[in-house]
Amino acid sequence: MKVDGGCLCGAITYEAVIDPEKIIVCHCTDCQINGGGAFRWGTLIAKEDFTLLSGDLKFYRKLAESGNHRALAFCGDCGTSLYGTQAEESVTLSLRIGTARQARELTPAFQMWHRSSYDWVDHLDSVPSVERQPNL
Ligand SMILES: [Zn+2]
Ligand SMILES: [Zn+2]
Repeated sequence: MKVDGGCLCGAITYEAVIDPEKIIVCHCTDCQINGGGAFRWGTLIAKEDFTLLSGDLKFYRKLAESGNHRALAFCGDCGTSLYGTQAEESVTLSLRIGTARQARELTPAFQMWHRSSYDWVDHLDSVPSVERQPNL
């Protein structure tokens, strides 16, 4: 499946080919902090299946629990996280699906690092909600 997307400010745009059956939610603490959310969702693709159409990505190098270094690609202007990849020799990209225009057509198939998930994540449907910005 072909997807396209970009960062919040619009400087970065891309196209990619993904397998819609292989969308993964990651509850690891690095994803929680780096993404600024409760979890991140993405999919693993071959590097060749990602095409940067505009903008210049910046990279943050992190040490993963495996002992390997990862390079986290983001927009230097708005900070949107686009993907993570091997720091030394990039082979696969973990594309951040939330940046894809087709994200609403996709559903996760698997969750990982669930041991560090927030307790309420599995019960979010029981939390009161409104359709738009509430009057707080
Ligand atoms: Zn941006
Ligand atoms: Zn993660």
